[in-house]
Amino acid sequence: MAFDSLSEKLQNVFKNLRGKGKLTEADVRTALKEVKMALLEADVNFKVVKNFVKSVEERAIGQEVMSSLTPGQMVVKIVNEEMVKLMGSETTEIKLKPGNDITVLMMCGLQGAGKTTTTAKLAGKFKQKGKKPLLVACDVYRPAAIKQLQINGEKQGVPVFSMGDGHKPVNIAKAAIEHAEKNGFNVVILDTAGRLHIDEGMMEELIEIKGNVSVDQTVLVVDAMTGQDAVNVSEMFHNKIQIDGVILTKLDGDTRGGAALSIRAVTGKPILYIGMGEKLSDLEQFYPDRMASRILGMGDILTLIDKAQAEIDDDKAKELEKKIRKAEFNFNDYLDSMSQVKKMGGISSIIGMLPGMGLPSDVEVDDNAFKGVEAIIFSMTTEERENPELLNPSRKKRIAKGAGVDISEVNKLVKQQEQMKKMMKQMSGLMSGKGKKRGFK
Ligand code: GDP
Repeated sequence: MAFDSLSEKLQNVFKNLRGKGKLTEADVRTALKEVKMALLEADVNFKVVKNFVKSVEERAIGQEVMSSLTPGQMVVKIVNEEMVKLMGSETTEIKLKPGNDITVLMMCGLQGAGKTTTTAKLAGKFKQKGKKPLLVACDVYRPAAIKQLQINGEKQGVPVFSMGDGHKPVNIAKAAIEHAEKNGFNVVILDTAGRLHIDEGMMEELIEIKGNVSVDQTVLVVDAMTGQDAVNVSEMFHNKIQIDGVILTKLDGDTRGGAALSIRAVTGKPILYIGMGEKLSDLEQFYPDRMASRILGMGDILTLIDKAQAEIDDDKAKELEKKIRKAEFNFNDYLDSMSQVKKMGGISSIIGMLPGMGLPSDVEVDDNAFKGVEAIIFSMTTEERENPELLNPSRKKRIAKGAGVDISEVNKLVKQQEQMKKMMKQMSGLMSGKGKKRGFK
Protein backbone atom coordinates (compact mmCIF):
# COMPACT_ATOMS: atom_id res chain seq x y z
CA MET A 1 0.00 0.00 0.00
CA ALA A 2 0.91 3.63 0.24
CA PHE A 3 3.94 4.56 2.33
CA ASP A 4 5.98 1.49 1.45
CA SER A 5 8.92 3.52 0.31
CA LEU A 6 8.66 6.05 3.16
CA SER A 7 8.31 3.26 5.62
CA GLU A 8 11.37 1.49 4.30
CA LYS A 9 13.50 4.62 4.39
CA LEU A 10 12.45 5.51 7.93
CA GLN A 11 13.12 2.02 9.13
CA ASN A 12 16.63 2.20 7.73
CA VAL A 13 17.26 5.45 9.55
CA PHE A 14 16.03 3.94 12.78
CA LYS A 15 18.01 0.77 12.31
CA ASN A 16 21.17 2.84 12.19
CA LEU A 17 20.16 4.78 15.28
CA ARG A 18 19.31 1.70 17.25
CA GLY A 19 22.59 0.13 16.30
CA LYS A 20 24.42 2.75 18.33
CA GLY A 21 24.70 2.36 22.07
CA LYS A 22 25.00 6.03 22.86
CA LEU A 23 23.75 8.86 20.71
CA THR A 24 25.44 12.17 20.20
CA GLU A 25 23.66 15.30 19.15
CA ALA A 26 25.26 14.91 15.75
CA ASP A 27 23.84 11.38 15.39
CA VAL A 28 20.35 12.64 16.04
CA ARG A 29 20.75 15.58 13.68
CA THR A 30 22.01 13.32 10.90
CA ALA A 31 19.14 10.90 11.43
CA LEU A 32 16.59 13.69 11.39
CA LYS A 33 18.05 15.05 8.18
CA GLU A 34 17.36 11.67 6.63
CA VAL A 35 13.86 11.62 8.10
CA LYS A 36 13.29 15.02 6.54
CA MET A 37 14.44 13.83 3.12
CA ALA A 38 12.25 10.75 3.33
CA LEU A 39 9.18 12.80 4.22
CA LEU A 40 9.78 15.27 1.42
CA GLU A 41 10.21 12.45 -1.05
CA ALA A 42 6.92 11.00 0.18
CA ASP A 43 5.34 14.26 -0.88
CA VAL A 44 4.63 15.61 2.55
CA ASN A 45 4.05 19.34 2.49
CA PHE A 46 7.30 21.27 2.92
CA LYS A 47 6.15 23.44 5.81
CA VAL A 48 4.70 20.45 7.59
CA VAL A 49 8.01 18.60 7.28
CA LYS A 50 9.95 21.57 8.61
CA ASN A 51 7.77 21.95 11.69
CA PHE A 52 7.63 18.23 12.27
CA VAL A 53 11.39 17.79 12.24
CA LYS A 54 11.77 20.81 14.48
CA SER A 55 9.46 19.41 17.14
CA VAL A 56 11.10 16.01 17.00
CA GLU A 57 14.52 17.59 17.28
CA GLU A 58 13.55 19.71 20.26
CA ARG A 59 12.52 16.63 22.14
CA ALA A 60 15.16 14.25 20.82
CA ILE A 61 18.16 16.40 21.63
CA GLY A 62 17.58 16.55 25.30
CA GLN A 63 18.13 14.84 28.59
CA GLU A 64 15.23 12.47 28.15
CA VAL A 65 16.81 10.76 25.15
CA MET A 66 20.50 11.17 25.71
CA SER A 67 20.42 9.70 29.19
CA SER A 68 18.10 6.88 28.28
CA LEU A 69 19.38 3.32 28.11
CA THR A 70 18.01 2.89 24.62
CA PRO A 71 18.33 6.29 22.98
CA GLY A 72 17.64 4.92 19.50
CA GLN A 73 14.30 3.56 20.65
CA MET A 74 13.48 6.82 22.37
CA VAL A 75 13.96 8.72 19.12
CA VAL A 76 11.64 6.30 17.32
CA LYS A 77 9.12 6.76 20.11
CA ILE A 78 9.26 10.54 19.76
CA VAL A 79 8.91 10.38 15.97
CA ASN A 80 5.92 8.11 16.46
CA GLU A 81 4.27 10.43 18.98
CA GLU A 82 4.86 13.52 16.88
CA MET A 83 3.50 11.77 13.80
CA VAL A 84 0.32 10.83 15.63
CA LYS A 85 -0.03 14.43 16.76
CA LEU A 86 0.47 15.61 13.18
CA MET A 87 -2.47 13.54 12.04
CA GLY A 88 -4.73 14.83 14.76
CA SER A 89 -4.23 12.32 17.60
CA GLU A 90 -7.89 11.47 17.97
CA THR A 91 -10.04 9.52 15.56
CA THR A 92 -12.83 11.76 14.32
CA GLU A 93 -16.11 10.18 13.42
CA ILE A 94 -18.77 11.78 11.28
CA LYS A 95 -21.27 12.84 13.91
CA LEU A 96 -24.80 11.67 13.26
CA LYS A 97 -27.77 13.03 15.14
CA PRO A 98 -29.48 10.57 17.44
CA GLY A 99 -32.66 8.71 16.60
CA ASN A 100 -34.64 9.91 13.65
CA ASP A 101 -33.28 13.45 13.54
CA ILE A 102 -31.93 14.06 10.06
CA THR A 103 -28.22 14.64 9.56
CA VAL A 104 -27.38 16.32 6.26
CA LEU A 105 -23.93 15.67 4.81
CA MET A 106 -22.62 17.50 1.79
CA MET A 107 -19.96 15.63 -0.15
CA CYS A 108 -17.68 17.66 -2.36
CA GLY A 109 -14.48 17.24 -4.31
CA LEU A 110 -12.87 17.39 -7.72
CA GLN A 111 -13.98 15.11 -10.52
CA GLY A 112 -12.29 11.74 -10.36
CA ALA A 113 -11.35 12.05 -6.69
CA GLY A 114 -13.70 9.19 -5.88
CA LYS A 115 -16.55 11.28 -4.50
CA THR A 116 -19.46 9.29 -5.90
CA THR A 117 -17.92 5.96 -4.94
CA THR A 118 -17.07 7.22 -1.46
CA THR A 119 -20.57 8.62 -1.00
CA ALA A 120 -22.01 5.16 -1.61
CA LYS A 121 -19.37 3.58 0.64
CA LEU A 122 -20.34 5.94 3.45
CA ALA A 123 -24.04 5.21 2.99
CA GLY A 124 -23.20 1.53 3.48
CA LYS A 125 -21.35 2.30 6.72
CA PHE A 126 -24.30 4.28 8.09
CA LYS A 127 -26.69 1.54 7.11
CA GLN A 128 -24.58 -0.93 9.03
CA LYS A 129 -24.93 1.33 12.06
CA GLY A 130 -28.70 0.98 11.80
CA LYS A 131 -29.28 4.36 10.12
CA LYS A 132 -31.56 4.99 7.16
CA PRO A 133 -29.47 6.89 4.61
CA LEU A 134 -30.71 8.59 1.46
CA LEU A 135 -28.31 9.39 -1.38
CA VAL A 136 -29.02 12.53 -3.35
CA ALA A 137 -27.84 13.12 -6.91
CA CYS A 138 -26.92 16.81 -7.05
CA ASP A 139 -24.50 16.53 -9.95
CA VAL A 140 -26.71 17.80 -12.73
CA TYR A 141 -23.96 18.27 -15.28
CA ARG A 142 -22.94 14.71 -15.88
CA PRO A 143 -25.84 12.30 -16.50
CA ALA A 144 -23.29 9.52 -16.03
CA ALA A 145 -22.73 10.70 -12.46
CA ILE A 146 -26.42 10.25 -11.60
CA LYS A 147 -26.41 6.81 -13.17
CA GLN A 148 -23.25 5.86 -11.27
CA LEU A 149 -24.77 6.92 -7.97
CA GLN A 150 -27.90 4.91 -8.74
CA ILE A 151 -25.88 1.80 -9.56
CA ASN A 152 -23.79 2.13 -6.40
CA GLY A 153 -26.84 2.95 -4.28
CA GLU A 154 -28.54 -0.17 -5.53
CA LYS A 155 -25.49 -2.27 -4.68
CA GLN A 156 -25.58 -0.89 -1.14
CA GLY A 157 -29.34 -1.25 -0.84
CA VAL A 158 -29.64 2.51 -0.29
CA PRO A 159 -32.23 4.56 -2.23
CA VAL A 160 -31.12 7.43 -4.46
CA PHE A 161 -33.11 10.64 -4.73
CA SER A 162 -32.78 12.22 -8.17
CA MET A 163 -34.64 14.88 -10.14
CA GLY A 164 -32.63 14.38 -13.32
CA ASP A 165 -30.58 17.24 -14.71
CA GLY A 166 -33.23 19.93 -15.09
CA HIS A 167 -33.08 21.50 -11.62
CA LYS A 168 -30.67 23.56 -9.59
CA PRO A 169 -28.66 21.48 -7.08
CA VAL A 170 -29.87 23.63 -4.17
CA ASN A 171 -33.49 22.86 -5.07
CA ILE A 172 -32.74 19.16 -5.41
CA ALA A 173 -31.16 19.25 -1.94
CA LYS A 174 -34.23 20.97 -0.44
CA ALA A 175 -36.62 18.52 -2.08
CA ALA A 176 -34.49 15.58 -0.93
CA ILE A 177 -34.63 16.70 2.68
CA GLU A 178 -38.42 17.03 2.48
CA HIS A 179 -38.54 13.57 0.96
CA ALA A 180 -36.37 12.25 3.79
CA GLU A 181 -38.62 13.83 6.43
CA LYS A 182 -41.71 12.26 4.91
CA ASN A 183 -40.18 8.86 4.40
CA GLY A 184 -38.22 8.27 7.59
CA PHE A 185 -34.68 8.70 6.27
CA ASN A 186 -32.28 10.03 8.89
CA VAL A 187 -29.04 10.64 6.98
CA VAL A 188 -29.17 12.66 3.76
CA ILE A 189 -25.97 12.53 1.73
CA LEU A 190 -25.69 15.11 -1.03
CA ASP A 191 -23.42 14.06 -3.89
CA THR A 192 -22.49 17.39 -5.44
CA ALA A 193 -20.87 18.05 -8.81
CA GLY A 194 -17.13 17.94 -9.18
CA ARG A 195 -15.07 19.82 -11.73
CA LEU A 196 -11.70 19.07 -13.17
CA HIS A 197 -10.21 22.06 -11.40
CA ILE A 198 -11.38 24.33 -8.68
CA ASP A 199 -13.53 26.99 -10.29
CA GLU A 200 -15.78 29.75 -9.05
CA GLY A 201 -18.95 28.17 -10.44
CA MET A 202 -18.48 25.01 -8.42
CA MET A 203 -17.73 26.92 -5.23
CA GLU A 204 -20.72 29.22 -5.74
CA GLU A 205 -22.95 26.22 -6.10
CA LEU A 206 -21.68 24.69 -2.86
CA ILE A 207 -22.02 28.00 -1.05
CA GLU A 208 -25.58 28.30 -2.32
CA ILE A 209 -26.47 24.84 -1.01
CA LYS A 210 -24.93 25.60 2.37
CA GLY A 211 -26.71 28.94 2.50
CA ASN A 212 -30.15 27.48 1.90
CA VAL A 213 -30.09 24.03 3.39
CA SER A 214 -28.97 23.20 6.88
CA VAL A 215 -25.89 21.17 6.09
CA ASP A 216 -24.58 19.53 9.26
CA GLN A 217 -21.23 18.48 7.91
CA THR A 218 -19.29 19.22 4.76
CA VAL A 219 -17.03 16.37 3.77
CA LEU A 220 -14.32 16.81 1.17
CA VAL A 221 -13.12 13.83 -0.85
CA VAL A 222 -9.55 14.03 -2.14
CA ASP A 223 -7.37 11.65 -4.09
CA ALA A 224 -4.20 10.59 -2.26
CA MET A 225 -2.53 9.82 -5.58
CA THR A 226 -2.40 13.53 -6.37
CA GLY A 227 0.02 14.12 -3.48
CA GLN A 228 0.60 17.77 -2.67
CA ASP A 229 -2.32 18.73 -4.89
CA ALA A 230 -4.65 16.88 -2.55
CA VAL A 231 -3.45 19.14 0.23
CA ASN A 232 -3.74 22.32 -1.85
CA VAL A 233 -7.24 21.34 -2.92
CA SER A 234 -8.21 20.75 0.72
CA GLU A 235 -6.86 24.11 1.73
CA MET A 236 -8.70 25.91 -1.08
CA PHE A 237 -12.00 24.17 -0.39
CA HIS A 238 -11.67 24.91 3.29
CA ASN A 239 -10.94 28.57 2.71
CA LYS A 240 -13.96 28.93 0.43
CA ILE A 241 -16.64 26.77 1.99
CA GLN A 242 -15.36 25.57 5.39
CA ILE A 243 -15.09 21.82 5.43
CA ASP A 244 -15.50 19.64 8.51
CA GLY A 245 -13.32 16.76 7.47
CA VAL A 246 -11.61 14.97 4.62
CA ILE A 247 -11.87 11.51 3.16
CA LEU A 248 -8.64 10.47 1.50
CA THR A 249 -9.18 7.98 -1.31
CA LYS A 250 -6.91 5.58 -3.18
CA LEU A 251 -4.51 4.97 -0.34
CA ASP A 252 -4.45 1.36 -1.47
CA GLY A 253 -2.58 2.37 -4.59
CA ASP A 254 1.05 2.98 -5.09
CA THR A 255 0.88 6.49 -3.73
CA ARG A 256 3.61 8.13 -1.74
CA GLY A 257 1.00 8.99 0.83
CA GLY A 258 2.25 12.41 1.91
CA ALA A 259 -1.27 13.85 1.87
CA ALA A 260 -2.25 11.73 4.85
CA LEU A 261 0.49 13.39 6.86
CA SER A 262 -0.16 16.93 5.67
CA ILE A 263 -3.90 17.53 5.47
CA ARG A 264 -4.58 17.95 9.15
CA ALA A 265 -1.63 20.23 9.71
CA VAL A 266 -2.45 22.42 6.71
CA THR A 267 -6.23 22.70 7.06
CA GLY A 268 -6.75 22.00 10.75
CA LYS A 269 -9.42 19.52 9.70
CA PRO A 270 -9.21 15.81 10.37
CA ILE A 271 -9.10 12.90 7.99
CA LEU A 272 -12.27 10.96 8.70
CA TYR A 273 -11.94 7.89 6.54
CA ILE A 274 -9.52 6.44 4.02
CA GLY A 275 -10.46 4.75 0.76
CA MET A 276 -8.61 1.48 0.40
CA GLY A 277 -9.94 0.13 -2.89
CA GLU A 278 -12.62 0.29 -5.53
CA LYS A 279 -15.03 -2.08 -3.80
CA LEU A 280 -17.84 -0.45 -1.89
CA SER A 281 -16.65 -2.05 1.32
CA ASP A 282 -13.16 -0.56 1.00
CA LEU A 283 -13.56 2.39 3.33
CA GLU A 284 -11.74 2.40 6.67
CA GLN A 285 -12.01 4.60 9.69
CA PHE A 286 -8.86 6.71 10.03
CA TYR A 287 -6.80 6.16 13.17
CA PRO A 288 -3.83 8.54 13.44
CA ASP A 289 -1.99 6.26 15.86
CA ARG A 290 -2.41 3.16 13.75
CA MET A 291 -1.41 5.01 10.62
CA ALA A 292 1.77 6.28 12.31
CA SER A 293 2.62 2.76 13.45
CA ARG A 294 2.17 1.46 9.96
CA ILE A 295 4.31 4.19 8.45
CA LEU A 296 7.04 3.52 10.97
CA GLY A 297 6.87 -0.19 10.25
CA MET A 298 5.79 -0.92 13.80
CA GLY A 299 2.69 -2.69 12.61
CA ASP A 300 -0.36 -2.24 14.70
CA ILE A 301 0.98 -3.56 17.96
CA LEU A 302 -1.41 -1.56 20.07
CA THR A 303 -4.45 -3.08 18.40
CA LEU A 304 -2.82 -6.44 18.73
CA ILE A 305 -2.28 -5.93 22.43
CA ASP A 306 -5.86 -4.67 22.81
CA LYS A 307 -7.12 -7.77 21.08
CA ALA A 308 -4.87 -9.98 23.14
CA GLN A 309 -6.15 -8.37 26.30
CA ALA A 310 -9.73 -8.84 25.28
CA GLU A 311 -9.44 -12.41 24.09
CA ILE A 312 -6.61 -14.05 25.92
CA ASP A 313 -6.49 -14.90 29.55
CA ASP A 314 -4.26 -12.47 31.37
CA ASP A 315 -1.69 -14.91 32.67
CA LYS A 316 -1.00 -16.33 29.24
CA ALA A 317 -0.74 -12.86 27.74
CA LYS A 318 1.72 -11.79 30.43
CA GLU A 319 3.74 -14.92 29.94
CA LEU A 320 3.83 -14.37 26.18
CA GLU A 321 4.79 -10.77 26.58
CA LYS A 322 7.62 -11.71 28.93
CA LYS A 323 8.89 -14.09 26.30
CA ILE A 324 8.61 -11.46 23.61
CA ARG A 325 10.62 -9.07 25.73
CA LYS A 326 13.33 -11.64 26.24
CA ALA A 327 13.00 -12.85 22.66
CA GLU A 328 12.56 -16.41 23.87
CA PHE A 329 10.14 -18.14 21.63
CA ASN A 330 10.23 -21.89 21.19
CA PHE A 331 7.87 -24.26 19.43
CA ASN A 332 5.72 -24.79 22.51
CA ASP A 333 5.03 -21.08 22.50
CA TYR A 334 4.32 -21.38 18.82
CA LEU A 335 1.63 -23.98 19.54
CA ASP A 336 0.27 -21.92 22.41
CA SER A 337 0.10 -18.77 20.39
CA MET A 338 -1.57 -20.58 17.51
CA SER A 339 -4.40 -21.58 19.76
CA GLN A 340 -4.64 -17.98 20.99
CA VAL A 341 -4.57 -16.75 17.39
CA LYS A 342 -7.57 -18.91 16.64
CA LYS A 343 -9.39 -17.24 19.51
CA MET A 344 -8.49 -13.82 18.12
CA GLY A 345 -10.17 -14.42 14.79
CA GLY A 346 -7.46 -16.18 12.82
CA ILE A 347 -4.08 -15.27 11.54
CA SER A 348 -5.27 -13.14 8.64
CA SER A 349 -6.92 -10.69 10.97
CA ILE A 350 -3.79 -10.15 13.02
CA ILE A 351 -0.99 -10.58 10.55
CA GLY A 352 -1.48 -7.10 9.13
CA MET A 353 -0.87 -5.67 12.57
CA LEU A 354 2.54 -7.24 12.97
CA PRO A 355 5.57 -5.14 12.19
CA GLY A 356 6.71 -5.44 8.61
CA MET A 357 4.07 -7.99 7.79
CA GLY A 358 1.26 -5.98 6.24
CA LEU A 359 -0.74 -7.88 3.65
CA PRO A 360 -2.47 -6.43 0.60
CA SER A 361 -6.19 -6.42 1.28
CA ASP A 362 -6.94 -8.93 -1.47
CA VAL A 363 -4.60 -11.58 -0.09
CA GLU A 364 -6.32 -14.12 2.07
CA VAL A 365 -4.43 -16.28 4.49
CA ASP A 366 -5.67 -19.78 4.82
CA ASP A 367 -5.85 -20.55 8.50
CA ASN A 368 -6.00 -24.25 7.67
CA ALA A 369 -2.43 -24.00 6.49
CA PHE A 370 -1.55 -23.92 10.16
CA LYS A 371 -2.79 -27.44 10.63
CA GLY A 372 0.35 -28.55 8.73
CA VAL A 373 2.48 -26.49 11.09
CA GLU A 374 0.83 -28.11 14.07
CA ALA A 375 1.53 -31.56 12.64
CA ILE A 376 5.22 -30.69 12.30
CA ILE A 377 5.48 -29.42 15.86
CA PHE A 378 3.64 -32.45 17.20
CA SER A 379 6.26 -34.64 15.51
CA MET A 380 9.02 -33.02 17.52
CA THR A 381 10.21 -34.31 20.87
CA THR A 382 9.60 -32.16 23.92
CA GLU A 383 13.27 -31.34 23.97
CA GLU A 384 13.26 -30.22 20.36
CA ARG A 385 10.24 -28.02 20.91
CA GLU A 386 11.95 -26.25 23.75
CA ASN A 387 15.32 -25.96 22.04
CA PRO A 388 14.82 -25.40 18.33
CA GLU A 389 18.59 -25.15 17.87
CA LEU A 390 18.78 -28.93 18.32
CA LEU A 391 17.15 -29.42 14.96
CA ASN A 392 19.90 -30.83 12.78
CA PRO A 393 19.24 -32.30 9.32
CA SER A 394 18.65 -35.86 10.53
CA ARG A 395 16.15 -34.72 13.17
CA LYS A 396 14.39 -32.58 10.60
CA LYS A 397 14.16 -35.56 8.27
CA ARG A 398 12.57 -37.66 11.03
CA ILE A 399 10.09 -34.89 11.88
CA ALA A 400 9.11 -34.43 8.24
CA LYS A 401 8.44 -38.14 7.95
CA GLY A 402 6.36 -38.15 11.13
CA ALA A 403 4.27 -35.20 10.00
CA GLY A 404 3.90 -36.54 6.48
CA VAL A 405 5.35 -33.42 4.88
CA ASP A 406 8.36 -32.60 2.76
CA ILE A 407 11.52 -31.65 4.63
CA SER A 408 11.38 -28.23 3.01
CA GLU A 409 8.23 -27.53 5.07
CA VAL A 410 10.13 -28.27 8.26
CA ASN A 411 13.00 -26.03 7.16
CA LYS A 412 10.54 -23.27 6.40
CA LEU A 413 9.00 -23.49 9.85
CA VAL A 414 12.37 -23.45 11.59
CA LYS A 415 13.37 -20.41 9.58
CA GLN A 416 10.12 -18.67 10.49
CA GLN A 417 10.72 -19.38 14.13
CA GLU A 418 14.19 -17.85 13.87
CA GLN A 419 12.80 -14.77 12.13
CA MET A 420 10.09 -14.44 14.73
CA LYS A 421 12.69 -14.48 17.45
CA LYS A 422 14.67 -11.82 15.66
CA MET A 423 11.58 -9.69 15.20
CA MET A 424 10.70 -10.02 18.86
CA LYS A 425 14.10 -8.71 19.80
CA GLN A 426 13.33 -5.60 17.80
CA MET A 427 9.82 -5.31 19.17
CA SER A 428 10.72 -5.73 22.79
CA GLY A 429 12.07 -2.21 23.17
CA LEU A 430 9.08 -0.63 21.53
CA MET A 431 6.66 -2.60 23.60
CA SER A 432 8.23 -1.75 26.90
CA GLY A 433 7.52 1.96 26.33
CA LYS A 434 3.98 1.47 25.12
CA GLY A 435 2.99 -1.38 27.37
CA LYS A 436 3.70 0.58 30.49
CA LYS A 437 1.58 3.48 29.42
CA ARG A 438 -1.40 1.22 28.96
CA GLY A 439 -0.91 -0.58 32.25
CA PHE A 440 0.16 -3.69 30.40
CA LYS A 441 3.18 -4.84 32.25
P1 GDP B 1 -15.88 11.20 -8.69
O1 GDP B 1 -15.72 11.78 -10.06
O2 GDP B 1 -15.14 12.01 -7.67
O3 GDP B 1 -17.31 10.96 -8.30
O4 GDP B 1 -15.10 9.83 -8.70
P2 GDP B 1 -15.62 8.34 -8.80
O5 GDP B 1 -16.36 7.96 -7.59
O6 GDP B 1 -16.29 8.16 -10.10
O7 GDP B 1 -14.22 7.57 -8.78
C1 GDP B 1 -13.24 7.73 -9.76
C2 GDP B 1 -12.46 6.42 -9.89
O8 GDP B 1 -11.70 6.19 -8.70
C3 GDP B 1 -13.34 5.20 -10.04
O9 GDP B 1 -12.76 4.34 -10.98
C4 GDP B 1 -13.35 4.57 -8.66
O10 GDP B 1 -13.55 3.18 -8.71
C5 GDP B 1 -11.96 4.90 -8.18
N1 GDP B 1 -11.84 4.94 -6.72
C6 GDP B 1 -12.58 5.64 -5.83
N2 GDP B 1 -12.13 5.45 -4.57
C7 GDP B 1 -11.07 4.60 -4.66
C8 GDP B 1 -10.17 4.01 -3.70
O11 GDP B 1 -10.22 4.24 -2.49
N3 GDP B 1 -9.21 3.19 -4.20
C9 GDP B 1 -9.09 2.92 -5.54
N4 GDP B 1 -8.13 2.11 -5.93
N5 GDP B 1 -9.92 3.45 -6.46
C10 GDP B 1 -10.90 4.29 -6.03
